[in-house]
Amino acid sequence: MCGNHSAVPNSTPARRAVLGAFGASLVAGLSACAAPESTAPETTTPELSPASASASPEVPGPNGALSVGGEVPPSYSAAPTPTPTATKRIRRTFIPDYQLPPIVGGLAPVITKIETKHPVVFLTIDDGNIKTPESVRLMTDYDYPASLFLTRDTIADNPAFFNAFKAQGSLVENHTVTHNINMVRQWGYQQQLNDIVGMQDYAFQHYGRRPTLFRPPGGAYSNVMRQAVAAAGMKAIITWEAKANAGKMDYQVGNSLRPGDIVLMHFRAEFAADFAAFRAAQLAAGLEVVLLEDFLGVA
Ligand SMILES: [Zn+2]
Repeated sequence: MCGNHSAVPNSTPARRAVLGAFGASLVAGLSACAAPESTAPETTTPELSPASASASPEVPGPNGALSVGGEVPPSYSAAPTPTPTATKRIRRTFIPDYQLPPIVGGLAPVITKIETKHPVVFLTIDDGNIKTPESVRLMTDYDYPASLFLTRDTIADNPAFFNAFKAQGSLVENHTVTHNINMVRQWGYQQQLNDIVGMQDYAFQHYGRRPTLFRPPGGAYSNVMRQAVAAAGMKAIITWEAKANAGKMDYQVGNSLRPGDIVLMHFRAEFAADFAAFRAAQLAAGLEVVLLEDFLGVA
């Protein structure tokens, strides 16, 4: 529904920045046993912390697909030996093999999928309507960094809620002030720009960073919108080809996650079920969850 755009990236030399990367290689293995059940709230044991989870004996078969982070540190048992890194996840490091297309002719590029040879996947979570401690806990316990495309009007009742995600490694991005899914058709340039800039200012005010990425409400975009996004100081419009919705994965292409996929999720009541669906797909595909902004160099 988002359509493909011609803003196809050229493969280019690796960016200089080495990514601290991400994904919960370790955790993936550690807490794999908890994921499938996360549909049922709080079924996980209280000690599902990254550290203690490694000691969990019951690693289910299907989730073994942990393609990365071969070296899992010794299980964090009750041994008296101090283990300073016990609670720290081991994240893989990737040197990005993709370069964000530049703004050309005042138009921000539109990115639907990242062309990469790395086993990475990008999680994006939209809107912000439903704010549950459980969503914070899941994102923290599993150490999944995500791009949060938040809408001012849906977070204004409690913007501080999202600080926990910031602390956990995610970034707040721009999903407009009002979430008018018809803005592309109904509004001209200036009105679109106002709705976009308003969220830039709001995000900066509450989270101390100006978003670099934009997601159109509903996914529809136009050249007028691309122009407004660039004028607002952002680097790209981000759409998707896969989403976690109603507790299952939906793919616009194929039937599994591919390296470089951008996955759409929402802050909804079914967050845990969607998260579990995403996680199962991510593990099955052997992909690491990496922060999109890091990979694009726009963090
Ligand atoms: Zn939305």
